[in-house]
Amino acid sequence: MWIDTHCHWDAPEFADDRDAVLRRAQAAGVERFIVPTVQAADWTATQAICRAAGQPYALGIHPLFTPQALDEDLRLLDAQLTEASGDPLLVAVGEIGLDFFVAGLDPERQQFFYVEQLKLACKHGLPVILHVRRSADQLLAGLRRVAVSGGIAHAFNGSRQQADAFLDLGFALGFGGAMTFERALQIRRLAAELPETAIVLETDSPDIPPHWLYRTAEQRAAGERSRNEPAELPRIAGTLAAMRGWSLAQTAAITRANALRVLPRLAAC
Ligand SMILES: [Zn+2]
Repeated sequence: MWIDTHCHWDAPEFADDRDAVLRRAQAAGVERFIVPTVQAADWTATQAICRAAGQPYALGIHPLFTPQALDEDLRLLDAQLTEASGDPLLVAVGEIGLDFFVAGLDPERQQFFYVEQLKLACKHGLPVILHVRRSADQLLAGLRRVAVSGGIAHAFNGSRQQADAFLDLGFALGFGGAMTFERALQIRRLAAELPETAIVLETDSPDIPPHWLYRTAEQRAAGERSRNEPAELPRIAGTLAAMRGWSLAQTAAITRANALRVLPRLAAC
C-alpha cells in the first residue's frame, strides 16, 4: 500500500534488528522501501540484503562520502550498474547530490562526483535520487547540463520556484518527518500547495525522525532513541493527508502513483 522512497535500511543503526524493521514496515502496510546507497564499499552488501528481502535499491556515491571516494569508484559504479541492469530491484542512481550545509566538504569534488554520476544515470537509462541541502540551484544547473530522465529530490526544503524547476525536469519531491513539525512552515506550505503529482513520501530512516520520535541532544546523550524507521511512514503520511484534505487511502494511492511515475522500474519490483 505505502512506498517509502528513501530508507537507509542498510545503515549500521539497523544492524541489530534489520529483519524486525522489515517486518514492522510490512505489518504497517509499507510494502516497499527504496534503499539508496552512499559509498562503493556498501554496494554489494546492500544489493544482497535488498535482493534477499525483495526491496528496491539505488547505487551511488553520497556527497557526504565524497572526501573518501576515489575517481576509480565511478568506474566501479559503471560496472556495478551494468551488472545489475537486469535486476528489477535496481531503480535509480543514488544517493547523489550536493551538500553546501555540512562544513569541510570540497565543493569542486562534490560537483565532480555529482556530474559524473548524472552521466552514468543517463548512460544506464536510470533516474536519480538527489540529496539537496542548500544546493538546489547548483543541482538544477547540473540537471540542465546532463539530461537525466528525472527522479526524486529527497528531503526537499527549497523555495516554491526551485520546487517548480525540479518538477519541470521530471522530478518528484520527497516529504517525510520534517513536515510533522508545526514550525517547518516552508516545508508544510510546499506539501500543502504543490500539485499532487509532485509529492512522494519518505522516512530517510534512521534519520529525520517525525516529531513524536524527536529527542533533544540531551535526551539522546541520556540513551533515549530517536531512530526513525519505515513503519512510521503511514503516520507521517497522516500529516500530509490532514494538510491536503485527503483520506489516507487517497494519500497512499497518489504518492504511490507518483513514485511509480518518477522511478518506473518500481513497477516491476
Ligand atoms: Zn539519504
